Amino acid sequence: MIFFQKLLQYKNLIHGVLERKDGPVNPFSVPKTEENILKALEKIGYKNFSEENLIFAEQVHGNKVYFCPPKIGGYIKLGVDGLISETTGQILVIKTADCLPILIYDPKRKRIGAIHAGKKGLIKGIIENAIATFETDPASLIIGIGPHIRSCCYDLKEDAEELKNNPQIRRYISKRNQKIYLDLTKIAIDKLLKLGVKKENIEDCKICTFCEAQRFYSCRKRLENPEIYKKEGVRMPCFGSFIGLIL
Ligand SMILES: [Zn+2]
Repeated sequence: MIFFQKLLQYKNLIHGVLERKDGPVNPFSVPKTEENILKALEKIGYKNFSEENLIFAEQVHGNKVYFCPPKIGGYIKLGVDGLISETTGQILVIKTADCLPILIYDPKRKRIGAIHAGKKGLIKGIIENAIATFETDPASLIIGIGPHIRSCCYDLKEDAEELKNNPQIRRYISKRNQKIYLDLTKIAIDKLLKLGVKKENIEDCKICTFCEAQRFYSCRKRLENPEIYKKEGVRMPCFGSFIGLIL
């Protein structure tokens, strides 16, 4: 598991990003998804949680963010790519395998968020919607950006031409060896800064899932090499990122 130093300083908060060795996560295709999250919670000293505490998002590459009502979880919220909560005991979980998992904490209002942001979600405004849903001064937000496919490896395929002409995206594109690469990390960080998040409050783990496909999960790598995650024996394995309020 990996952690964000900036989030670790808050004692009312637990969070983590699972690695491949912590087991795959996908509430739609991995039978042990809940178990693997609960085991990760145990590893950091929290044994009293059950499946009823966990809330997943369906993740449809859209821009909808759900503010979880103050009852405990045990469900998958359909149609959304972001979850926000202010309820103690709710553990928000996002699954990814190349897209950006983003964990957010507002120490001012004591609210947490977990966001799935890929290329489509970023363009559609998932980050803008998530920050707005916090209803806070963005300068107070603490942000952790987990492992995702980075500009070293993310070459665009069929939509390269279209994105080259998208004024929002154009400046995040670079050419190397006849390929066109996109910098999702910079798109996300620039959006956060533009919204008023402080640079010093953003922690980027700097890990590329494609470079470290054995340590995490990479959807791109799996498409290239369908055998890579064979031992898991599940469809579409992802790694989980979670955040929860405990006090
Ligand atoms: Zn890479």
